[in-house]
Amino acid sequence: MKIWKVGLLLFLLLFLIKEGNFVFGKENLNLKLPFPANEKWTITWGYGDGDHVGKDKYALDFNLPGKQDLGKSILAAESGTVIFADWSHPNPRKSYGLRVDIDHGNGFITRYAHLKSISVKKGEKVYQGQEIGKCDDTGHSFGSHLHFALYKKEGNKYIGVKPEPMSGYTNFVTGKWYISDNWLKRNPHSFVEKVKEKAKKIVSVPEGLVGEEENLSFWDKLKFSAKSTIWNLKEL
Ligand SMILES: [Zn+2]
Repeated sequence: MKIWKVGLLLFLLLFLIKEGNFVFGKENLNLKLPFPANEKWTITWGYGDGDHVGKDKYALDFNLPGKQDLGKSILAAESGTVIFADWSHPNPRKSYGLRVDIDHGNGFITRYAHLKSISVKKGEKVYQGQEIGKCDDTGHSFGSHLHFALYKKEGNKYIGVKPEPMSGYTNFVTGKWYISDNWLKRNPHSFVEKVKEKAKKIVSVPEGLVGEEENLSFWDKLKFSAKSTIWNLKEL
């Protein structure tokens, strides 16, 4: 066989392996509730409630009474690759706070927001049930809870979709209770968690900021990049 034919065959094989996920892969996710098995959490903001508008119209706020959820383990709802694990916004009091996004393939992404700490890194593969962080109320939040959302990515746009069925449940509404069957897998990377805890202390609160990163003024962006440099140094 000519060398170029071998090359062509190899290329086709690699293409099939890479794209096979989309051609032959499962279209449906096997989502499980983002907290450990046998734990029972309630929903304080269900589909279309509260500030959940736009791409977050099907986002869910999971809660435990009082501050019982503070510091609790938050788990990956499905296996995937971490595509974001950091502060959503330079101001810790704005937007999603400390946040993790996981890409599950086929354009499906889950988001976990307002975390206290993060125990995964961008680019890392995670299993369903792996601890990705701890619950808190960082960002635009009034009391500890987990903000959870499922998106379908189309181009650069995130389109909110109903995260169901999840652990067998459908129709996530305010006030109902849900029991998890997501078995906890401990995360070996607890060092990342400590780094993030430090970062939280370093960031001061710039006053008067609203919205997401793209709405920042030139000076705020400058302040943000200076702070990011400090985080990066601390992570070494
Ligand atoms: Zn929320």
